[in-house]
Amino acid sequence: MPEFKNLPIYEVEKEICSSLEKENRLILQAPTGSGKSTQVPQILLDKKLITNGQIVVLQPRRIAARMLASRVSFERQTKLGAETGYQIRFENQTSEETKIRFVTEAILLRQIVSDPNLTNVSTIIFDEFHERHLHGDITLARALHVQQTTRPDLKLIVMSATLNPGPLEEFLNPCQTIQSAGRTYPVTTEYWKRSISSQTTPVWDAATEAFESWNAQGNSGDVLIFMPGNFEIQKTIQSLQVSHAASNHLILPLHGELPSEQQDNAVAPQDKPKIIVSTNVAETSLTIDGIKLVIDSGLARIADYDPVRGINTLHIHKISQSSADQRKGRAGRTSEGHCIRLWKEKDHSFRPLSEKPEIHRLDLSEVLLNLKCSGVRDLEIFNWFDRPDEQSLNNALTLLCDLGAFDKDHELTPLGRKMQSFPTHPRYARLLLAAAEFDCVNQACLIAALTQGRDILISRVDKFTRERREDILGTSVSSDFFLSMRAWRFALAKRFQTRDCKQLGIHAGSARLVQPLFNQFIRIAKQLNLDTEPHKVPDENIRRSLLLAFSDRLAIRLDRGTTRCQMVHKRRGNISKDSCIQNSGLIVAAEINEIEGRDKTVQTFLSNLTEIEEDWLLQHFPEDIHTGEEVELDPQTKRVRSFKQTFFRDLLIKSEDGGEASDEAKAKLLALNILDGNIPLKNWDPKIENWITRVNVVSQACPELDIPRIDEDAKLQILTQICMSIRSPKDLKEVDVNSHVKDWLSSSQVSLVDKHAPEKVLLKNGKRVRVEYKENEDPVLSARIQDLLGISILPSILLGNRSPVIHILAPNFRPVQVTKDLESFWNEHYPSRKKELQRKYPKHAWPDDPLILEKK
Ligand code: ADP
Ligand code: MG
Repeated sequence: MPEFKNLPIYEVEKEICSSLEKENRLILQAPTGSGKSTQVPQILLDKKLITNGQIVVLQPRRIAARMLASRVSFERQTKLGAETGYQIRFENQTSEETKIRFVTEAILLRQIVSDPNLTNVSTIIFDEFHERHLHGDITLARALHVQQTTRPDLKLIVMSATLNPGPLEEFLNPCQTIQSAGRTYPVTTEYWKRSISSQTTPVWDAATEAFESWNAQGNSGDVLIFMPGNFEIQKTIQSLQVSHAASNHLILPLHGELPSEQQDNAVAPQDKPKIIVSTNVAETSLTIDGIKLVIDSGLARIADYDPVRGINTLHIHKISQSSADQRKGRAGRTSEGHCIRLWKEKDHSFRPLSEKPEIHRLDLSEVLLNLKCSGVRDLEIFNWFDRPDEQSLNNALTLLCDLGAFDKDHELTPLGRKMQSFPTHPRYARLLLAAAEFDCVNQACLIAALTQGRDILISRVDKFTRERREDILGTSVSSDFFLSMRAWRFALAKRFQTRDCKQLGIHAGSARLVQPLFNQFIRIAKQLNLDTEPHKVPDENIRRSLLLAFSDRLAIRLDRGTTRCQMVHKRRGNISKDSCIQNSGLIVAAEINEIEGRDKTVQTFLSNLTEIEEDWLLQHFPEDIHTGEEVELDPQTKRVRSFKQTFFRDLLIKSEDGGEASDEAKAKLLALNILDGNIPLKNWDPKIENWITRVNVVSQACPELDIPRIDEDAKLQILTQICMSIRSPKDLKEVDVNSHVKDWLSSSQVSLVDKHAPEKVLLKNGKRVRVEYKENEDPVLSARIQDLLGISILPSILLGNRSPVIHILAPNFRPVQVTKDLESFWNEHYPSRKKELQRKYPKHAWPDDPLILEKK
């Protein structure tokens, strides 16, 4: 029996089978290395739990999808891509006969759009669910929907090493949970005693020191070092290579950008002891057996999204306590082990307990477009496993609107539907579609490929290299992409030879990685019937395509002397020094990098820039352009000047001097100053305010009368009209404010206000009584007792929609009673107060029956 048939997962094999015979939903929890990823799909297949259709395993990482498929193929002694295969965003290694398919990212979501019943899928396994990868969350919700509607036979299995199954059990209810303890060995932990700093001890040197001290204690065996990224991995390897202690070890990198042979090599058993320097891919996704020592930098490059500014960032962060525990566990897979954490013990408890799920961190535009296309009309009522916050939903919606995928009401447009058929981020879908119009799909594919990885042009090069680069590639360009495209073609012609590339400061490795991406974009475009032949087109065509794809990143230089820019959506940034575009006024930035300085301040740099012509904006986005007149009081000349302003969305792109302001603009400026209280307007007195209050009270209390409110906007307009009617600001003293304010309403509306919100009401006893109005309050009627004699019911005001409060006063206007019910005042209060009132005010009549008049 092969060794892998002994993996701990086989202890729960029977349970898995019997559970899946009863129920189509299963949560499976077992420690890393138990055999979940490699064995569960095989168990399903071999135990005939699957009748027809594929077992699809959704993985958070591409490298894991490929390596797991390759491992399973190896174990089954089949060819990769035959019975077992994988499909990642730009690579498809599957065939007609594929039964187990490892996939990543949006592959399944896209499949649900084109085939809502998932016809050829029998089971979906969500692997590493604890990572809370964005696509894992969304795909689970969608798959559940498919199961609940048209595919009750579809099996859903959620697997993870560490997971609080509570919320998931609730979401999938009814569902079974199987837990397996696995086999793990104790791992001792040691914390680093000193501080790590890039100046004194960089993290890679600390890692080497940690290895040396462990080695000096007579320990030996395989070592796994966790570093945040490619760069730190290289540095660690260099540091280890000069360490005597490591001299008889194989030193192997492991990360997603390596060629697959090297990735396989790192995991495969070796004759010599090995030191693997890896990103967090070896944390739980891939298991490397036989590790005796784990050295953990405590860092990872984590994709992050800044919801305030709408920027995706890839910063190095401290990993959480739970990630650190996972990493530590890698030393206890097959025997006892040791873990050295390169941070101080006292700092450990300050780390977050676990990582924030991606749905709360990343750009959601691709999944939102996908959801809309698969018929989810209302994102408000979508069955989120974990709902993202409003801000990030709004940012994604804004981007999709900017790209034209959604209209202003967030409804899917025909363009949006087309964009979804591209297996790319919506932005690149937009780029290819725009390029199709401008006959430059080939170039756009190259640009798209160039933006996926890191820059192929090395930014810091010596003078000679720079000059050579300029000689061969040229300098004057209207887009940074033109330069990188030339550089890439140069590298291609030289077959990505490091020596040739280095001469021009081209990063050969990065340039090489562009090739398969370029081919992939070409393939995507071809599949969608776009013309991918390279046509010679004016540069302008490509720049226009870039504008359409990056219109949400339009920027305008704030001044000529600096590199400061203002961008759409109220963002700011600086042009990066690496850009060739240093002098243009209007640009789009394909890259917005947030860089955290040593002092923790974050600077935003715009790079991969393309020059834009202003009139293109009007041609391509007529609905997003608007103009307005702005006036300004020149403090020196006291003259009012006007500016004609042109906006693209919320970005001011042009402000032209309109000379002396128009009379209307001047009047508006004056009116604004009156409204703000800077300039007095004598005749706008309490009487006027009282009239406005009455109008607004009628408008609110009697909607059936259709009287418009006089709000701040209306006041500004009235004041503007007043200011238009005078010849000089001096005339303000004399101006007839009253008639202007009254004229705001028609004469019949004025009569309605007078009728239903009268200043005084006439009572049946012939007396007139004042009414006072306040917005949002009932009207107040104040009267002395004598004036109310004989009255129990008041005339109706405000169409009877609001009953007034009556302030009943003594003859000296002192308050006696506040009531809404006059009749009960006469019946209940008046008799008892009469005597006292009579004594105080003997000259007045205090009849025994105050309502006698009414009765007559
Ligand atoms: P889990 O998903 O539970 O973490 P896996 O199914 O990935 O576990 O791995 C189970 C075991 O299979 C590992 O502990 C290791 O022994 C073996 N294995 C997996 N992938 C490889 C590989 N590429 N090369 C060698 N052994 C492997
Ligand atoms: Mg696994």
